[in-house]
Amino acid sequence: MFKALLVEKNDEGKTSASVQDISEDQLPEGNVTVAVEYSTVNYKDGLCIGPGGGLVRTYPHVPGIDFAGTVETSDDDRYKPGDKVVLTGWRVGENRWGGYAEKARVSADMLVPLPEGLTTRQAMAVGTAGLTAMLAVMALEDRGLKDGPLLVTGAAGGVGSVATAILANLGHEVAAVTGRPEQEDYLKSLGATQIVAREELTEVTRKPLEAELWGGCVDAVAGAMLGRVLKQMKYGASVAAIGLAGGAAIEGALITPFILRGVNLLGIDSVMQPYQNRVRAWGRIAKDLPMDKLEAMVQTATLSDLPGLGKDILKGQVKGRVVVDVT
Ligand code: NDP
Repeated sequence: MFKALLVEKNDEGKTSASVQDISEDQLPEGNVTVAVEYSTVNYKDGLCIGPGGGLVRTYPHVPGIDFAGTVETSDDDRYKPGDKVVLTGWRVGENRWGGYAEKARVSADMLVPLPEGLTTRQAMAVGTAGLTAMLAVMALEDRGLKDGPLLVTGAAGGVGSVATAILANLGHEVAAVTGRPEQEDYLKSLGATQIVAREELTEVTRKPLEAELWGGCVDAVAGAMLGRVLKQMKYGASVAAIGLAGGAAIEGALITPFILRGVNLLGIDSVMQPYQNRVRAWGRIAKDLPMDKLEAMVQTATLSDLPGLGKDILKGQVKGRVVVDVT
């Protein structure tokens, strides 16, 4: 038997999450069983710990879209007992059981070896949020960053914090958008040199273009903010769109930034990202994300803290990254 956060659904359709003992034969199909050491909390985890947000199909369910740990058994040549591994994405923790348990069983295709230079704890301090931040940075670099400050929206959140730290460490000037003025010192400690109040970018306007301000942007918010940001991009600059914390639509967006300024909107998906690019991104994280900055973003939690943290992240109240010590 081992411990897991189990989400159950009652006859009225109401879900509840609690730490329970479960047995190994309850684990899903898969050719690698991992002794999970650490997991984390992403926005999607908040949905899956709660009513599911349409992501979870069957109950009881073990959420946790990320985990890192040690291979216990493997029927796949690529992994052997004792190997350290990381899992993010592939809808693990959504349509199959995930990392909020002392053991997880998955397909070897879903794993990556623990990147050299990182511990399992650090890998989960990064998690899907950090991997996505790095994928966004890589997409901006591949497309060609322009001069001038780079904007990060939802900056005090998970993706935003890691994106801020990476871009600043690479020598870029970073402007961080936040709705939490009390996080100004935190964002500056990650390397932001300019703080932009969320309210400055939430009014929907019908202006076709605004002053050219930003040489690139990592956007975790979408909604009215992305509509405004697109109009403020410098000629030929790119926005890496990673999230929808402020709404699924791009409000007030017009075609003008694309056809008059050659602005690019780059979509970033971490879930189905091919293996080679995941490995490349993890390698860049180990190299370009300063570990002291990562540590400054982290709060530690246990399985029993997760129901509360799930609610907090849905309200945008979690600062930086959470590491869940599963054991
Ligand atoms: P967090 O909750 O940690 O961060 C989101 C941040 O957005 C908040 O901290 C807050 O930052 C800001 N925010 C929240 N609500 C609003 C609002 N109504 N208007 C404006 N800003 C708001 O989440 P994550 O960083 O983990 O994820 C961010 C987004 O990215 C989510 O939508 C998530 O689903 C998505 N995502 C997408 C991935 C992909 O593969 N594309 C992978 C991972 C996440 P502040 O307080 O600083 O304003």
